Parts: sequence; C-alpha cells; structure tokens
Amino acid sequence: MTILIAGGGIGGLTLALSLHQIGIPCRVFESVAELKPLGVGINVLPHAVRELTELGLLDKLDEAGIRTRELSYFSKHGKPIWTEPRGLEAGYKWPQFSIHRGVLQQILLDAVIERLGRDSLLNSHHLANYTDTPDGVSARFVDKATGDDVGTYEGTLLIAADGIHSAVRGKLYPHEGAPIWNGRILWRGITEGDAFLSGRTMIMAGHESLKFVCYPISAQLPNGKFRINWIAERYFPPDHHWRREDYNRAAKLDEFLPWFEDWRFDWLDVPGLIRNCTHAYEYPLVDRDPLDRWTFGNVTLLGDAAHPMYPIGSNGASQAILDARVLTREILNHGETAAALHA
Ligand SMILES: Cc1cc2nc3c(=O)[nH]c(=O)nc-3n(C[C@H](O)[C@H](O)[C@H](O)COP(=O)(O)OP(=O)(O)OC[C@H]3O[C@@H](n4cnc5c(N)ncnc54)[C@H](O)[C@@H]3O)c2cc1C
Repeated sequence: MTILIAGGGIGGLTLALSLHQIGIPCRVFESVAELKPLGVGINVLPHAVRELTELGLLDKLDEAGIRTRELSYFSKHGKPIWTEPRGLEAGYKWPQFSIHRGVLQQILLDAVIERLGRDSLLNSHHLANYTDTPDGVSARFVDKATGDDVGTYEGTLLIAADGIHSAVRGKLYPHEGAPIWNGRILWRGITEGDAFLSGRTMIMAGHESLKFVCYPISAQLPNGKFRINWIAERYFPPDHHWRREDYNRAAKLDEFLPWFEDWRFDWLDVPGLIRNCTHAYEYPLVDRDPLDRWTFGNVTLLGDAAHPMYPIGSNGASQAILDARVLTREILNHGETAAALHA
C-alpha cells in the first residue's frame, strides 16, 4: 500500500524521495494550491548535505547555492572577534550550503515530480482529520481555500510533515496551545549586494540584544552582484506586543532599520543592505516544548511538526532532512509498520 505524507515542505519532499529510493510507494498531500519558492535564505549543514548527496542532488545544490566557507563573529562596530571554518574547510566530507529556502524546496519538488510522477503530489489537499483502520490509516483532506472536502485516502502509515502548525500534532496534543515566543523578533530579507570578506562567509555582528547576520546565497548575478541573505534580530521585554508567527508576514523597514543606522563597517554597509532589499519579513522567534512521543500507532510526526526549532543556526531544514532519512531507514528495516515508526 501507500504511505501518506501530509506536507510538501523540506521534510515531506525529502521523505518522498527517500521512500522512492527504497521502492516504497507514497503520496504527498500539500495544503497550498501551488508550492511557490517562499522564505529567505537558510543553511543546510554537512550532515544534511550528505543525505541530499545520497539522493543525487549535490549538483543541484551547487548550481543554486553557495558552499559556505567560514563563520565570523564581529562586534557591533564591525571589529572581528572570532572566525571558524565551515563545511569542507572545517574537515567535513560534505559542504555546508547557504541557499534560498524556496529554491531548495523547488529542487526537491522537481526531483519528486521527475522520479515519482506528477500524481504523487496533491496540492490543495489540507489534512483535516484521520482515523486508524485495521490496515493502517484513513486520512481526510479539504481544500483550505474553499473548505470543500477533496477526498479520503487509505494508507499504511501517515507521516505528518505539516510544519509548525501541524494539524496532526494538534489532534495528538489538543491542549498544547500556540508556539512559545522567546522575546526576540527577526526581520529577514534578501538584497542584491557586493561580495564581502571571503565571498563565502557567514557573519554575525552585534550582541545578545541586537544582532545582524548575513551571508551570500547565490553565485554572481549578471549585474555583478550577489544575493545576500540578512537577518536583523532584537530582544524585547516580555510585555512587548508581538504578532503571531507567519513566514510570509511583510516587515516595515522603519520598524527596525533605525537601530542599525550606524552599523556601517569598512567591509559591510548594514543599513544599506537592509534599505536596498525588495521584500523584508518579520518573524517572532518561537518554538515548542519537546513532546514525550511523536508516534501513535501508524501515525508519526516529522520535522517541524515533531520538533519546531528557532529558524536560526541552520536547525529546521537540516533536522527535517535527517528525520526523513532515518525514518526511511527504519521503514527499510521494519517494513511499513508501526514498529518502524516506533524505532
Ligand atoms: C512558507 C514557508 C517559508 C519559510 N521560510 C523560512 C525561512 O525563511 N527561514 C527558515 O529558517 N525557515 C523557514 N521556514 C521553515 C523551514 O522550512 C522549516 O523549519 C524546515 O524546513 C522544516 O521543514 P518541514 O518540512 O518540517 O516544515 P515546512 O518546510 O514548514 O513544511 C510544512 C509544509 O506542510 C504544509 N502543510 C501545513 N499544514 C498542512 C496540512 N494540514 N496538510 C497538508 N499540508 C500542510 C505547509 O504548507 C508546508 O508546505 C519556512 C516555512 C514555510 C512553510
């Protein structure tokens, strides 16, 4: 039978490719009508690049991203504090990539369509509910835009890769409530700018309450510039009013640019970089507490649905990729069974 995967994000698509690699049929049900290259830059760490390499995607990563060479810390005046190598330069067998999240998702999506076929992905299929059956699970989907029922599907297992607002997690833990804010807000954007330092350096400048991170995520563009991903971060007192997390929430530059106005270093113009972006997004730094268990019978959680992390430090995508690969290994060992999910 088929494994049902709810969510066509980084985790769900990696799982589909991995199951295909071991010859297990699966289908991905994605809530949105069309997967668009959303988000800004992320990093994929060597342990996750190893897995994408095993899926034959290293060339695609090289075409689309940058092999991050080093991570450098600076004061808010742009004075160097510490530099350490990353990826191959740090002695790993696999590189670390800085890449646009949406481009990474598109690479995975193209591979899914090419290898599993267009029918393996059903858009406008938002998981609404599921029930256990004697042979596995039965899952009901709706079109979120219209509220219409779009079908009920039977599968051996249901893997919920449906992100930080996971419907399955909500059903398993109905009293959990909203994600938890840690007092910080991130403003994120991409600007076409000049290369800085080694050309493959990720920098973090500032201090605990006010921080700026940036790194290139593209090769040189025809206009001679590079796509530079940046994140401005500030700590707020607990009574500060913050808006619910939404990766697509647009940010207003005048709400945070003034704090960085004098961060003009001789090697990087921080306010210039912020000012010249086409879009900026606001995101409160939220996560959720760990759960006692992710697996209930023939259903389990994967990626952000299981363990949403702060979208910093290259956590989310890298860990979702590992989840998909480990789960596939256990399905190879135990078959399409609850025992595989438990393992
Ligand atoms: C639009 C978007 C933009 C993002 N931008 C960034 C970013 O700029 N930087 C960063 O660090 N992280 C970003 N993330 C989060 C990052 O992608 C994840 O932390 C990480 O990749 C873990 O992957 P995941 O597959 O668990 O979750 P996600 O990549 O979040 O994927 C979850 C998928 O499930 C779908 N879905 C949700 N509910 C249902 C449902 N009930 N039924 C079916 N499908 C459902 C969603 O539409 C989404 O495609 C973004 C996530 C999204 C969805």
